[in-house]
Amino acid sequence: MTQQKTLFTDLSRDALTAWCQEQGFPAYRADQIRRWIYGKRVNSFDEMHDVPKALRELLTQHYDIFSMEIERHLVSSDGTEKLLLRLADGEHTECVLMRESDRRTVCISSQVGCAMGCVFCASGLLGVKRNLSTGEILEQILRLDRLLPPEERITNVVLMGMGEPLANLKNVIPALNTLNENGALGIGARRITVSTVGLPDKIRELAALDMQFNLAISLHAPTDQLRTEIVPVNKGTGIQEIMRAANEYFQKTGRRVSYEYCLLGGVNDGEVHARQLAALLKGENAHVNLIPMNPVDSLSLQAPTQPRTKQFVDTLTTHGVNVTTRKRKGADIDAACGQLRLKQEQSQSTNVTVLPTDLSSERPVGE
Ligand code: SAH
Repeated sequence: MTQQKTLFTDLSRDALTAWCQEQGFPAYRADQIRRWIYGKRVNSFDEMHDVPKALRELLTQHYDIFSMEIERHLVSSDGTEKLLLRLADGEHTECVLMRESDRRTVCISSQVGCAMGCVFCASGLLGVKRNLSTGEILEQILRLDRLLPPEERITNVVLMGMGEPLANLKNVIPALNTLNENGALGIGARRITVSTVGLPDKIRELAALDMQFNLAISLHAPTDQLRTEIVPVNKGTGIQEIMRAANEYFQKTGRRVSYEYCLLGGVNDGEVHARQLAALLKGENAHVNLIPMNPVDSLSLQAPTQPRTKQFVDTLTTHGVNVTTRKRKGADIDAACGQLRLKQEQSQSTNVTVLPTDLSSERPVGE
């Protein structure tokens, strides 16, 4: 009978250390093994030539380094790469690698699908299937990291792929720790951005870690009435409560919170909305990231026109709000979160298709 193996990336540093000791090896072996996997990009335990053979054999018996298959690997003309990964249970997840000057930013998913139901987003169209495990969240990083040449490293991570990271904090937090840990991936917390629809209690939980992660709030509307239409979970929360939690996050961590605002043509991109947004954020130490909507074929919502986008930016700037507009990347490879999986699922059931989009070109804040 073959023994069910554990996914290596699901193990915390402490758990691996304890396991090494149980097997009769000194604690320092754990860090050595983690460096091989996270830092030196080996794909098998056997390649760890300074780890005793007996330990390598035990590792091979007990652990898998990878659990997913690369189902599709797309490369954009701008250098952006996207992976559609098939999970062990047949579900799919997506992740993206973006290149810009010295930055190597990866955008990863936290759930299969999403329960939040934002009306313009492809990830939520089929609801949420399940949480990704810590190991599955990290495996996306391992896979993308292995696409880079030896001299390059991932510099920034954004949790802006499929899913609501704060709805899966129990698996996301250990993944963030491994991302951050020296000896594992060693990516500074200031280079890691967690994007949320705005779940106040969970924002407070994240703040309590007292880490320097960037927090991005997906606001998308300046008033509760409009926001509830666009982001249905707003109904039970409200913008004020989210902003209170965001302020607490800033107080506790010293990290400026950014607000994502997806511009939907004719819905939330008017002059009046820009003024309302400026009034809402007045006096806040906030930054707005405008994202012109990436059209999703099965949805009737549209991208804003360029003049309206420009006017929106100008109005915010005139009112003293810090604003950047997200650049387009990977437009030719369905780089936007949820698009590829949606296509995959739909090709299995209906013949609905989704247009190529470019949402994942988020520029992480604070760098
Ligand atoms: N659930 C989290 C993280 C995933 S979405 C959140 O809501 O923040 C990451 C970002 O992509 C969010 O700001 C989301 O609103 C945006 N987004 C999703 N679909 C989009 C689309 N079709 N066009 C533009 N931005 C989109």
